[in-house]
Amino acid sequence: MEKFELPFNNIVGGKQKNKDDVKENWKKESDEFLRKNEFKYAGLEKNLTKDEVLEIEKIKHGVNDIAQYYGATKKLSPKIIILEPGSVYKITQGKFKSGVCSPYMRRIMVDSCESKLDFATTLAHEMFHMSEYTSLIFSQETDDTELRRAGISIFGKDGETVYFANIEEALIAEAVQDFVNQYLRKNPQFVDEIKKTDFVKNWLGKFYDYADVPKEKQKEFLDSVYSFPDIDNLIERLNGNDNEEFKFGFLNGYLRTMFENDDVVMRERMDERKKLDSLVDMILSSSENEYTSRKEIVDVFMRANFSGKLLPLARLIEKSLGKGSFRSIGADSSVIK
Ligand SMILES: [Zn+2]
Repeated sequence: MEKFELPFNNIVGGKQKNKDDVKENWKKESDEFLRKNEFKYAGLEKNLTKDEVLEIEKIKHGVNDIAQYYGATKKLSPKIIILEPGSVYKITQGKFKSGVCSPYMRRIMVDSCESKLDFATTLAHEMFHMSEYTSLIFSQETDDTELRRAGISIFGKDGETVYFANIEEALIAEAVQDFVNQYLRKNPQFVDEIKKTDFVKNWLGKFYDYADVPKEKQKEFLDSVYSFPDIDNLIERLNGNDNEEFKFGFLNGYLRTMFENDDVVMRERMDERKKLDSLVDMILSSSENEYTSRKEIVDVFMRANFSGKLLPLARLIEKSLGKGSFRSIGADSSVIK
């Protein structure tokens, strides 16, 4: 078979001639899109140092390795634009914070920021979106293509509903966690910051226990955050001579200010993850010992997302949760564009 030159895995519908046209049209369209949109970030683009360029390359490799482990194929690299802090919010008029991607135009925009960890995880998140299975659909009516699939997300015929979109987000968050554990934790550039963050999270865990916050709730929050504002000061206070109760009081105030100032990046989508978690739990408890860990089940989801092969996942869900459940889960986890 001829090698596919588009950054998409497949084009559904249309004749061979249409598919050939798509290749040419998409390239033109995306070049034009990039050119036309340059003014939006003119003056906001960050000049990268050599080290920063290298770091981005490393992040790209780490992401691709993980995506390919779950069955993704190699794709053309997206265009990556790194901006001054706060730019994504400005450009998207508040719709997105710190990172955004366009799966059809294959463009990523990410804010630079003080925290290396925040930057790396934001960029990895957007890159994972670009590395998952993606297909287009050819429409006879418009004589044009549009997105059909992005990971396990399926774009509905109404042009608005995106089925499984929440689960896709949760799986991307899962992939970012893999990336942190497998790559960033071993990278000297990140070790320091990860240690500091772990230290604060450990304290937050103690504080939440003290305040009787259920473990699940704690986990939801702590798994979603990669960095804390003004962390050195915070650590100094936590290491200080005050008693534990005083430190808990301090943490309480710190958290309140952090949320009030919207100073925390909770990129990893707590609500979406909760949905995925409860789904995985349901499958695990009704799988009659076929699966012994949550991880095995999450892997089936991940493979569906990155390889695009939905059948094994659909079988698993229908077998555990009954006929028709795959479809209804798609609807329950859909979003309206
Ligand atoms: Zn996302």
